Amino acid sequence: MRPGAIGFELALVLTGAVATGLLWLAGLPLAGAVLLVLSLYLLRQLYFLWRLTRFIQRQHRLAPPFPAGLWGEVYRAVGRYQQRARKGRKRQLRFQRRFREAANSVPDALVVLNKSQQIEWANPAAETLLGVQWPDHEGKLLTEVCEQRGLADYLDGGDYTRPLEVAAEQNQSIMLSIRIAPFGERKRQRLVVGRDITKIFHLNMIRRDFVANASHELRTPLTVIAGFVENLLNSALTAEPHRRPLSLMERQTNRMRSIIEDLLTLSRLEMDDTASNLAPVNLPQEIEQVVADARTLSDGNHEIALDVDADLMLIGNQSELRSAVSNLVFNAVKHTPAGSHVRIAWRDEPGGPVLRVSDDGPGIAPEHIPRITERFYRIDKARSRASGGTGLGLAIVKHVLNRHDAELSIASDPGRGTCFTCRFPPASRLRREDPQRDTRVLGSA
Ligand code: ADP
Repeated sequence: MRPGAIGFELALVLTGAVATGLLWLAGLPLAGAVLLVLSLYLLRQLYFLWRLTRFIQRQHRLAPPFPAGLWGEVYRAVGRYQQRARKGRKRQLRFQRRFREAANSVPDALVVLNKSQQIEWANPAAETLLGVQWPDHEGKLLTEVCEQRGLADYLDGGDYTRPLEVAAEQNQSIMLSIRIAPFGERKRQRLVVGRDITKIFHLNMIRRDFVANASHELRTPLTVIAGFVENLLNSALTAEPHRRPLSLMERQTNRMRSIIEDLLTLSRLEMDDTASNLAPVNLPQEIEQVVADARTLSDGNHEIALDVDADLMLIGNQSELRSAVSNLVFNAVKHTPAGSHVRIAWRDEPGGPVLRVSDDGPGIAPEHIPRITERFYRIDKARSRASGGTGLGLAIVKHVLNRHDAELSIASDPGRGTCFTCRFPPASRLRREDPQRDTRVLGSA
């Protein structure tokens, strides 16, 4: 207790005692007696108040026996509060301990960063995967301790929708997937989660190589078969009854060839997350050529309209973009009945260049939309095959857009039509009158 905190009250009691004596001497014993009783009463209150203050300040436990009367009630109530607070604190400590134990047993690296990106806490796995030791590295910048390639840019970039996948700096044979989750006040703190994805990565690589090799191996024999079938069909010596099975064989070999070509395209797209060979692409011209082919495919059964900004070019990979545009436009023709309208719009919008391919065909039911870009996912397999579909078109579109940092969104109203929207990043836009822009800089933007 602060010295003198009860000095005033003590001085008051002392004055009362002196006044009692004076009254006694002045021949007023009754008044003196009353004042004495009051002074003693005040002294008692003061004592209990002082004792309570000391208990609270020294954080001592208030335990029975409690004084009688009102002070007893006060002591009991404060004792109850103390007990409740103690239990709360114990619960909190237990929870904290359990949380730490759980976080320590997680095989993923967990690092908590404060607002200034300094390390606040890390679990033991963070040392093996990211080289962050806690508490030794507490207060240090994450990028100072963990020199993981690409981490600084990823942290500063602020876009954490996709994880950063890199070989661990500590051990190049480990593949890491690093995710960042902002949390706390105004989401300024960060939780960094590093996961060892070596096994999944290798499995993916094996799958990708297997598909690519199998497709490659199948291509040559298929070309030979297709060649013979074509020769036989063109030969005057081929007997008439054999022509129908031969033309069926030709159709099926063509279908297999398309599937193999699409599988090879997908494998190539999967090799890398970002598009290479970036250059200014004259997308209006590409659209025009694709639409010419789509008109041939439609054979005059569809009305195809264009709303294209002729000066709007795009920085990207020409063959990949062409493949994405043709898949979307051909789908709009293949999957809609004769008489349908198809519209292709290529416009510059504040958020970046946008390509929209819409139709007023049968549309896609909402339950199919989340899975429609998966390989071989088709709503009606038989109809897709009949229209020459491989089931890989939209998967290719999705990959191409991912590699261009673009987004694909699908809006459909069953019975009324579908609209596929490809939104490209603003940095990829290029106007025809501005062909001198440094494509390398833009490409990496
Ligand atoms: P496919 O080779 O079968 O066209 P895609 O991956 O390109 O494969 O498309 C997957 C499925 O999505 C198609 O089988 C079809 O059912 C549906 N689809 C694609 N585009 C449209 C569209 N414009 N209208 C209706 N359905 C569509």
